[in-house]
Amino acid sequence: MTPKTVGDAVLQRDGTSYGLMVGGAGGVVTPDELERIARTAREHGVPLIKLTRGQRIALLGIPGEKAVAVARALGVDEGRPGGPCMKYVAACPGTAVCRWGMQDALALARELEERFGTRTFPSKLKIGVSGCARNCSSSFFSDLGFIGTGRGWMVFFGGNGARRPRNADLVASNLTDDQALDLADRLVNYYASHGRSGERTARFVERLGLETIRSELLRFVPYIPLE
Ligand code: SF4
Repeated sequence: MTPKTVGDAVLQRDGTSYGLMVGGAGGVVTPDELERIARTAREHGVPLIKLTRGQRIALLGIPGEKAVAVARALGVDEGRPGGPCMKYVAACPGTAVCRWGMQDALALARELEERFGTRTFPSKLKIGVSGCARNCSSSFFSDLGFIGTGRGWMVFFGGNGARRPRNADLVASNLTDDQALDLADRLVNYYASHGRSGERTARFVERLGLETIRSELLRFVPYIPLE
């Protein structure tokens, strides 16, 4: 029987070819990495390369017998975590480039990818980081969202797009980079401990209620003022 995964490559609907996601947090790739992806695709007969909503690069239609070699050539042959995991950290250019940027979205995105990229959760997790209130990374529709302001980061939790869209709830404002990362840790750990299998953060927040999350988690966070 054809395996459903080969390393990080996932079996496609035709039942014979594989798809593989590559690329760094926030869609950042170097010219060398881009050349390596193109060369690998060319050498192994990959017919389709597509940029994804999550700012990843998808190699699609990889012939089954080439999946291992492609994953190995691109350094993603270790295999995904065994279960639902973080799908992506989408980020805008933030202060690295954008004239409107208030915070360094790309740096925060790299840290988030580092922390959560190898973990499993009750369901898939998508993260959006926007360097200012123009919100180019759709942070309101992310499980975990960040928006930069002149006073620090706003952090949102429980957003979703797809079939049942939900605007994420604002859980804290005016956070430093370290505080934003610490709060991200606390929120995903709480979700990992209390979420039901297959339950996205949007449904998780709806089931528990934001007040419960405030009283059980947020009121113990030292940099979130008590209401
Ligand atoms: S969210 Fe703001 S900082 Fe980021 S790209 Fe859009 S305008 Fe620029």
